[in-house]
Amino acid sequence: MKEFILVTGGAGYIGSHTVQALSGHGYIPIVYDNLSEGHRQAVDGNILVVGDTADAAALNELFSRYNFSAVIHFAASSLVGESVVEPAKYYSNNLAATITLLSAALKFGVKNFIFSSTCATYGCPVYTPIDEKHPQLPINPYGSSKLMVEMLLRDYNKGYGLNYAILRYFNAAGAHPHFPIGESHRRETHLIPLILKTLLKNSDRKLTIFGEDYDTPDGTCIRDYIHVTDLAEAHISAMQKLLSSSGSFAVNLAVGRGCSVKEAVKAAEDVTGLKVPLVHGSRREGDPPVLVADNLLAKELLGFSPKYTDIREIIQTAWNWELNRRF
Ligand code: UDP
Repeated sequence: MKEFILVTGGAGYIGSHTVQALSGHGYIPIVYDNLSEGHRQAVDGNILVVGDTADAAALNELFSRYNFSAVIHFAASSLVGESVVEPAKYYSNNLAATITLLSAALKFGVKNFIFSSTCATYGCPVYTPIDEKHPQLPINPYGSSKLMVEMLLRDYNKGYGLNYAILRYFNAAGAHPHFPIGESHRRETHLIPLILKTLLKNSDRKLTIFGEDYDTPDGTCIRDYIHVTDLAEAHISAMQKLLSSSGSFAVNLAVGRGCSVKEAVKAAEDVTGLKVPLVHGSRREGDPPVLVADNLLAKELLGFSPKYTDIREIIQTAWNWELNRRF
């Protein structure tokens, strides 16, 4: 019998790629999304229920309609800068709404919960690569709101027998190689799409490099970019682990390889054969110099093995999407 999986935020970037992966593995994803950030077209061919995770009545109705095996909870606000100036939005959407969602899930006996967390819960790294034992001292309300949910999940595990998989993403990038879905934020702030947008026909954009005086080999910030379909597959492995009753866990999801801003620019130039117009800007507030993960635990626990390990391959899929994007 096919299993129903509730995917909140399934019309968003990582959510929609996970929805495709779920269908590919024979599950029936039910997308629940308020479409504030997500796109209806991103879930074409799957069931979409438009609603908010803060809406207890709508959730009760949803849980009574479907017998879910698990919940994958993507729906959240995720802009670091915005979280600093609008913290209430982050605690409300990321923490309070998650409590509402968990109450509904538990009321209907759904005890497997996969949670989108972030490397932002670690704050400024005290060592790299960052493993799961690294201290969690977030430096912005976005990271704090995600860490609070992590704490809550541990307590719900003890108190209510909730099984959780906490997945701490590093930098998601790229687009689906086969389905017409990719990264499409209403307010784009991420490096790779912004690099590629400068290269589109008739674009008059330039890429601002946020700081070239960091203590890194080329002076620019280093991040660990993971392809969105590798991330999506890891959700399936994590969910299957929970469904096989093998206990709760928290794990980093990353390639384990650093790429600087300048290296990403060079890779985009290699992929496209075009020159990225640059502006030399100052540091962006709240940017740690290096965020690179130790992904050994994901390998051991989930058999995680990213298909995309070269930033050029990741950028190639993102470029294909930019050239043919539907939304
Ligand atoms: N960055 C940049 N110019 C931009 C956007 C991003 O130099 O227009 C840098 C940013 O400062 C960071 C890296 O690229 O060091 C990755 O930023 P992004 O916003 O993609 O992800 P984050 O690591 O902040 O989640």
